[in-house]
Amino acid sequence: MKNLLGGKGANLAEMTNIGLPVPPGLIITTEACRDFSAQGQAFPKGMEEQVCEGITVLEEMLGRKFGDEQDPLLVSVRSGAPISMPGMMDTVLNLGLNDLTVEALAAGTGNERFALDCYRRFINMFGEVVMGVDHHKFEKLLENHKEKAGVYFDNQLPAKEWRKVVADYKSLILKETGKTFPQSPMEQLFMAVHAVFNSWNNDRAIVYRKINKIPDDLGTAVNVQAMVFGNIGNDSGTGVAFTRNPSTGEKKLYGEYLINAQGEDVVAGIRTPQPIDALEQDMPQVYKQFAGICSLLEQHYRNMQDIEFTIERGKLWMLQTRNGKRTAQAAIKIAVDMVDEGLITRDEAILRVEPGQLDQLLHRRIDPGAKLDIIAKGLPASPGAASGSVVFDADLAEKMGQEGKKVILVSTETTPDDIHGIVAAQGILTSRGGMTSHAAVVARGMGKPCVCGCEALRIDYHKHLFEVAGLVIKQGDIISVDGATGNVILGTVPMLDPVLSPEFRLLLEWADQVRTLGVRANAETPEDALKSREFGAAGIGLTRTEHMFMAQDRLPIVQEMILATSAAERNIALDKLLPMQQGDFYGILKAMDGLPVTIRLLDPPLHEFLPNMEDLMVEITTLRLSNGDREELRRKEDLLRKVRALHEANPMLGHRGCRLGITFPEVYAMQARAIFNATAQLVKEGCQPVPEVEIPLVIDKNELSSLREMVTGVVGEVMKAAGVEFHYTVGTMIEIPRAALLADEIASYADFFSFGTNDLTQTTLGFSRDDAEGKFMQAYLDQKILTDNPFMVLDRKGVGKLMKIAVELGRKTSPGLLIGICGEHGGDPSSIEFCHSIGLDFVSCSPFRVPIARLAAAQAAV
Ligand code: ADP
Ligand code: MG
Ligand code: MG
Repeated sequence: MKNLLGGKGANLAEMTNIGLPVPPGLIITTEACRDFSAQGQAFPKGMEEQVCEGITVLEEMLGRKFGDEQDPLLVSVRSGAPISMPGMMDTVLNLGLNDLTVEALAAGTGNERFALDCYRRFINMFGEVVMGVDHHKFEKLLENHKEKAGVYFDNQLPAKEWRKVVADYKSLILKETGKTFPQSPMEQLFMAVHAVFNSWNNDRAIVYRKINKIPDDLGTAVNVQAMVFGNIGNDSGTGVAFTRNPSTGEKKLYGEYLINAQGEDVVAGIRTPQPIDALEQDMPQVYKQFAGICSLLEQHYRNMQDIEFTIERGKLWMLQTRNGKRTAQAAIKIAVDMVDEGLITRDEAILRVEPGQLDQLLHRRIDPGAKLDIIAKGLPASPGAASGSVVFDADLAEKMGQEGKKVILVSTETTPDDIHGIVAAQGILTSRGGMTSHAAVVARGMGKPCVCGCEALRIDYHKHLFEVAGLVIKQGDIISVDGATGNVILGTVPMLDPVLSPEFRLLLEWADQVRTLGVRANAETPEDALKSREFGAAGIGLTRTEHMFMAQDRLPIVQEMILATSAAERNIALDKLLPMQQGDFYGILKAMDGLPVTIRLLDPPLHEFLPNMEDLMVEITTLRLSNGDREELRRKEDLLRKVRALHEANPMLGHRGCRLGITFPEVYAMQARAIFNATAQLVKEGCQPVPEVEIPLVIDKNELSSLREMVTGVVGEVMKAAGVEFHYTVGTMIEIPRAALLADEIASYADFFSFGTNDLTQTTLGFSRDDAEGKFMQAYLDQKILTDNPFMVLDRKGVGKLMKIAVELGRKTSPGLLIGICGEHGGDPSSIEFCHSIGLDFVSCSPFRVPIARLAAAQAAV
């Protein structure tokens, strides 16, 4: 019932049902929250009465009364959305305390320090969450008191100091808000519920939902739960644990706890906590019970759990369980292990790993052989390595990130308010907090490297620097963090290409067994081709020949070809290019021996290969003014004239793609000859090359029929000259709406279709990609005109509709027509799902995304 009760509430109810020790409570539903928002922040009718009834039931169960001056009932008021948003919304603990009940709590427990500790926490949380007082102001007051008392940690303050803190807190609230801190527990309760409902719409929750694509209209439930106390003495404590290691996936309890502490103390990095293993020595009975419950919860949920617990005077209480967030590495290991343990099926294992997350494992890592200048070591909180400029402030990190700079966010600890800075940073480094601290959890969720609890760092926010090991590192200096080892390294570091772990390979094998969609790679070099083969690509779905024209030694010849004034002149340049291109194709076809290679003939507008007009004008002016070489001047002026003539107002829609083949058939003919010469040569060497010649930007069958005839002519000549026969195909890109709409006609001349969804998106939406992204795309996303950037996630509604039409029409003419996609979308999991659903034969993506596509294709098929 997560949608109604929220994740936290539903799981608390579930744990109660299986007989685990959970403090009793009541849940106000998400429905109430939605009503509350819809009615302009008013509680729905009858809600307050129902809550009061619930409190009465709670009072009867526990034999304590809300606001009682002998034995008061205290509760926590906890937010809980249907989808977990850790730390994004608000919780208030120890509610029900006031100037009288605090004394009752002190007397009843015989522990004044404890009662006051609860009270100051409550006033602080309530003041912050419900009354809107800045949390720094509370912290500052507390720091002052600690300094005066000469203590470093909160738990060292004696009762009489806490009394002063409590008094200061209350005056702070009065000063900041003009209102007194409410003494009536019922009033406190409804104010808190109000605030939790509202926290659904606080800034950080909105940002979190946006990043994680969680709908804005779910609302949050509110859990009102009897308090248990981990801060009542040294036989008490509080902790968090994962049933398996969320970083590596290792099957071993992983977590931290603090003796004599409450609530968020562990995660907030107030003191550095103890590893969960230590609990076995501290409280063996409790540890045993806890370990038993952990394995029970894993069996029950059949998933790794993230658990919060509190020990009150030696008794264990469960406060939360949820499916734990984990790194890609851990996700794979846990899924594969759980299949081994008979807990889940292979299909479930395939669905357990988020394909997009695999990106983390396909990134480069620090070369283990490199000599590193390690300046400090912290906890390895989230694997991966990153280098960047040191930044101490989340806003600045965001700003620099937007400017395309790489930054490492360095902070004593992070809070949910820093989330935008973490998003923008390459890596995170904190000086306090453990493996379950905010920074660690968020970084793991995002797949960013994080080193935390690096206590040797002395951060000076005022001077924008930190000191470590006698060094001063200033804002802007470059450091690297290695989240796998916890190392902090001066400067940048040499990185290595990724390799797939045995578990990763196994999971992908399972994926291959269920998927029906083929996966190819986009590659232009033999190295990339080999890499993609290693990652499991079944061929090359796109080789862009223009990249081969850009090489330093070739560009002058390409320019010669473009600037030629006659066919004869052009042929001289083409003759020089032919052997070069032939070598390129030979290398790729050989690397992909036995597998298909789609080679696209020249696509971009020609001026992309020519010098820039402004540069030329500057050079000419300089020559003129300095009375320079006249010959040189004339040559440059001539060049400028030609460049000008080739200039286009709208090159994306200009003289490019097969339009070049139509106007300069000898260029396409040279490329076809290079492809087939290489093929013939390989056949003679005993290889099995499978070339697929692809014509870009087609709008009509007449273009394709004429270019196909040209290609066939060249093949005939090559085969005759070489004395060998081989198989080849000729197909087309579908990247203009007209081609999709006339796919039935075009299919009669095509052996295959490949959707070029980059151009198809540009031409269908009429958005130029390069202009859209910097100028208006964000507004379209912010105003929810579009839900996703259509250049990243395929626009199913529009572009997808054209694709569907093209598939249907194409296969009507030619039922066995091979159809694939080679745009950027070919590596995007949600787009891959769509491609599967409309019956494509393959997707093609960059080599490093091939494993992602294999898994996504399997998920679409399961
Ligand atoms: P979040 O969703 O941010 O994790 P929680 O509602 O889980 O917030 O509460 C924050 C902290 O307070 C947790 O550490 C939790 O264990 C603790 N806590 C919540 N309710 C109680 C309670 N009734 N008794 C003791 N501790 C509690
Ligand atoms: Mg929690
Ligand atoms: Mg294109």
